[in-house]
Amino acid sequence: MPDDNLSAILYKTGDLRLENRPIPEPQDDQVQIRMAAVGICGSDVHYLVKGSIGDFVVKAPMILGHEAAGVVSKVGKNVTNLKVGDRVAIEPGVPCRYCDFCKTGRYNLCKTIFFCATPPDDGNLSRYYCHAADFCFKLPDHVSLEEGALLEPLSVGVQACRRAGVTLGSTVLICGAGPIGLVNLFVAKSMGAAVVIMTDIAENRLTKAKELGANFTVQIQPGQTAEDTAKVIEETLGQSPDITIECSGAESSIKLAILATRSGGVVTLVGLGPPEVKVPIVNAATREVDIRGVFRYANCYDAALALVASGKADVKKLITHNYKLEETLEAFETSRTGAGGAIKVMIHC
Ligand code: NAD
Ligand code: ZN
Repeated sequence: MPDDNLSAILYKTGDLRLENRPIPEPQDDQVQIRMAAVGICGSDVHYLVKGSIGDFVVKAPMILGHEAAGVVSKVGKNVTNLKVGDRVAIEPGVPCRYCDFCKTGRYNLCKTIFFCATPPDDGNLSRYYCHAADFCFKLPDHVSLEEGALLEPLSVGVQACRRAGVTLGSTVLICGAGPIGLVNLFVAKSMGAAVVIMTDIAENRLTKAKELGANFTVQIQPGQTAEDTAKVIEETLGQSPDITIECSGAESSIKLAILATRSGGVVTLVGLGPPEVKVPIVNAATREVDIRGVFRYANCYDAALALVASGKADVKKLITHNYKLEETLEAFETSRTGAGGAIKVMIHC
């Protein structure tokens, strides 16, 4: 067992350092986890490059990382669901448990939720980390710690597909084939979608989408209008999609999501781009296209784990690069630049 607690700490924009921090002791309801696998998420990179996402601003040094799994190394005195040696995936958001949102099951909307690596809350890209025991999910022996880490983005897919109402026979358009678009592909297929069509501007991401089961892909060309793309999609499918899951955040793509969706259908907005965009709202209103937000996930980890454990979502295929904790800066550089066709970069602690 390592006796240091090397941690990846973001001091401010562009200033990420590896430093030793004291090994934390678990509180009564927590477990201490020897961290194993932490995936780099677009938001980690965004905090490093821009120092903020919306109203969340890095004002004090913060440990990065929230797509994570590890091995329980100590348990608090009230913990009964886990024991030392258990391999666990960590659901990074621990809500207040008392507000209306928490009590009605929509705890992702809790205003005082603790969330790893959302300022000011520390993440878990470190050797040791303590977390509420009931937000840790024990992994079956045949599910790897890397797959455990990937339950985090997969849960975003579960939340988005549930919010969109994907069901048996659905025709689904997924805009953007980054890690989040791709996990939505896994979930939509598992929930019974008959056909999934995906867009991206990058050819290599669409190649991956095909490999992972997308029925059709459409590469968005520079200058191509959303109206034209909507036509291409309709011609390709022989109908308009019932559901569109927007996973790029690009204004033109949100516009496409609305225009391409069949009347009476649903658009879910997963991608988070500019805070204000121009979209064809009257088109949506007069065709009763419902536009629904998606924010992280609530009660999705169990389903995400079941998808992986049953072999329905082969999330390890998203991992393109692996680094050691000591190589964190290089890992972030790979994720930031997308060098070598990077999709999901995994750090081993
Ligand atoms: P990513 O940047 O790796 O992927 C985005 C993909 O969209 C890229 O492959 C890019 O080429 C593609 N793209 C860009 N412009 C496009 C366009 N006009 N049309 C089609 N594709 C286009 O990011 P990711 O990790 O996959 O995350 C996707 C989005 O989801 C981000 O905006 C992220 O902030 C957001 N996100 C939201 C939540 C949530 O809770 N709502 C959770 C996680 C991530
Ligand atoms: Zn709450």
